[in-house]
Amino acid sequence: MTNTIAAVSTPRGKGGIAVIRISGEGTDRVLDRIFVPFGKKSLSERGERVAVYGKIISPADGAVLDCGIATRYKSPASYTGEDMAELSCHGGVFVTRAVLAAALEAGARLAEAGEFTRRAFLNGKLTLTEAEAVGELLDADTEERLRLAASAVGGRLSDEISDMTDRLTKVMSALYAAIDYPEEDVGDEGEREIGSVMREVKARAERLLSTYRRGKAVTDGVKCVICGRPNAGKSSLYNAICGENEAIVTDVAGTTRDVLKTRVSFGGVTLELCDTAGLRDTSDTVESIGVERAEREIGSAELLICVFDSSSPLTDGDRRLISDSAAARIAVVNKSDLDCRLTSEDESLIGEKFDKIIRVSCETGDGIDELAAAVGELYDSGKVELGEDAVIWSVRHEASLRRAVGLLEAAIVALDAGEPIDAICTLCEGAAAELGETDGRGVSEEIVSGIFSRFCVGK
Ligand code: GDP
Repeated sequence: MTNTIAAVSTPRGKGGIAVIRISGEGTDRVLDRIFVPFGKKSLSERGERVAVYGKIISPADGAVLDCGIATRYKSPASYTGEDMAELSCHGGVFVTRAVLAAALEAGARLAEAGEFTRRAFLNGKLTLTEAEAVGELLDADTEERLRLAASAVGGRLSDEISDMTDRLTKVMSALYAAIDYPEEDVGDEGEREIGSVMREVKARAERLLSTYRRGKAVTDGVKCVICGRPNAGKSSLYNAICGENEAIVTDVAGTTRDVLKTRVSFGGVTLELCDTAGLRDTSDTVESIGVERAEREIGSAELLICVFDSSSPLTDGDRRLISDSAAARIAVVNKSDLDCRLTSEDESLIGEKFDKIIRVSCETGDGIDELAAAVGELYDSGKVELGEDAVIWSVRHEASLRRAVGLLEAAIVALDAGEPIDAICTLCEGAAAELGETDGRGVSEEIVSGIFSRFCVGK
């Protein structure tokens, strides 16, 4: 922990500026060997958190590598909680590498992936959920994901968890007091109060758990496959959802032969959207490979959007789509701008097997907003306000919160049944430990390493 690390924190490649970060006890020593401020005052005389202009030099021979800005931070008031410095130089690939090499030569060692943020976590500057949120922020590829991550980086989720833990700690101190002083009865009033706090914490944990579906759908994305027979309008729908002309649309059946994929924000969730070849029996070798791939994608989808062409009666190809599947399913009845040729039997067949039916015209855009709302509803978009509500998104949060709810439930039952106080106390302690685990207290080294190894070097 005490060694001094350095890394380039800006992306690899040519840019206006690059930032080299240094952190650890020896930061000032490293900086003194590679940075010479312009003017009379030394770096330490300029104080911390001040941008100082100067020369960046090689510690070996004093050769000037670049001119740049050094900013020093003193422990604990820094990102990592240690002494830290940020050195901005010109963003050329070679110069950046030379400045980093100078820092390493002056005594720092190269930081591992995520090591700055890991140190911040170990020094109590960030909770584990906040650190995970930093990872999400860096990976954010949609507005919703950014909003979720930014609010968690700002402590929204951690604050909720620590508030719940505080409430539970109060209950536990009352219970400990009752154990230590058995002659002073907790009394009915006291028990009611303890029970009501336990119920409140359990309800809050359950509310947080209920955000998982949306949180996961925003961060990981939902694997969504558009399927249907050739010419139903799959590629047109893919384009309408992406808002771009990515898929080729023609009236020649069988043009989409491969699987097209993109990540897109739709209905408040992130779709891993897939356009597939139309399902039909074909003697064309390339098309039949496409059909095979389409069937594979459909098999692994979490959400299927099955497109039907309402301007012609159902075909065998359509009926193949109406079979059961584990995925959530939305039927899009397309070409609503044309006369409807589906029979009422066709419509009721579709109605039986799908979670939702949306009439759409990819030609005019009618129904696309309704489709977005239907997708959003499947993933609780209306119920969870990203940026406002505390939201969980990782399977780790979900698992520990679920265990916390189970233990609280057992504690409430035990209290209501008048079981011994130490048994109730043990259950509450377990629940508090699970809440702590959600927030990163008491998690194993393995979990911590797993989380930070996903970061890039320099973060
Ligand atoms: P795919 O084979 O299922 O991908 O279908 P395409 O998206 O390539 O569309 C097949 C044909 O139907 C094209 O000529 C489209 O212009 C047309 N089409 C798609 N959606 C609509 C719609 O809503 N209304 C009308 N009138 N034509 C559509």
